[in-house]
Amino acid sequence: MVRPTFRFAPSPNGLLHLGHARSALLNEALAHACGGRFLLRIEDIDPARCRPEFEAAISDDLAWLGLDWERPVRRQSEHFADYQAALDHLDGLGLVYPSFESRADIRRVVAGRRDWPSDPDGAPLFPFPREAMSAVERAARRAAGEPHALRLDMARAQAQAVKKAGPLGWQEVAETGGPAQRIVADPLAWGDVVLARKDVPTAYHLAVVVDDALQGVTHVVRGADLKAATSVHLVLQVLLDLPPPLYTHHALLLDEQGRKLSKSIGSQSLAALRAQGWTPAEVRGHALGPHAAGTKGFSLVHE
Ligand code: GLU
Repeated sequence: MVRPTFRFAPSPNGLLHLGHARSALLNEALAHACGGRFLLRIEDIDPARCRPEFEAAISDDLAWLGLDWERPVRRQSEHFADYQAALDHLDGLGLVYPSFESRADIRRVVAGRRDWPSDPDGAPLFPFPREAMSAVERAARRAAGEPHALRLDMARAQAQAVKKAGPLGWQEVAETGGPAQRIVADPLAWGDVVLARKDVPTAYHLAVVVDDALQGVTHVVRGADLKAATSVHLVLQVLLDLPPPLYTHHALLLDEQGRKLSKSIGSQSLAALRAQGWTPAEVRGHALGPHAAGTKGFSLVHE
């Protein structure tokens, strides 16, 4: 029988905060409850933002919290060949194309179009249709070494995935347990996502589905802010013949001002809480329990 396998997959681009602790603790608790495995995966594909000292701090914080995980730890930056193989497969299906437009180009075009749609993360959908440039021109510019990203032709990808697997949906289990529910996927809401960046030979969506499959992850437990991205992950899993895990998107922790905790707003790190004298038990209580969370101004938001 397949052993249930859970993972916590942080990016070492800053210090962990209570929201990360919540994800890590939930994964470990669920793995423990069913005799499953608990893995740590370092999502460090972005060399400009990821740093070894943040990776070291992640291990320190998790160990301080009393967590234990299997070794060796998978570090995404050591596995670009795996993501390339997946990209080649999608390319072979005719679903990948190089795009040469910069962020500024995208902003400029979108600024001129009222009501241009955004993806679930709030970024404008890629506004340059694949058909606007011939395959020959794209290939020539790529061969000439022009910087480019590689994008998924989402309309075609979705159509092929539906043809292969039927209507797209994933199995979602509530963080409180109970039977899984089918969530209908909406990959078109994301437009033509990037599969390989200009500066990095992969991107989050591709690396995450490849690794979850290669590591035998059966349960993905992560914050509700990643729920919408599961639509993209499902399309890739179908096209790449990867077994889809079960998903749980857990409630997010909010700070006193009702903001979701995040590195970008400078939420207090676990290291800072530790320096202020918080104990691992207090962090566990605040990260996991909505009632305990209320006592220091933190609260949980369910979707
Ligand atoms: N590396 C992602 C993050 O830190 C999480 C990926 C995932 O859990 O699927 O937000």
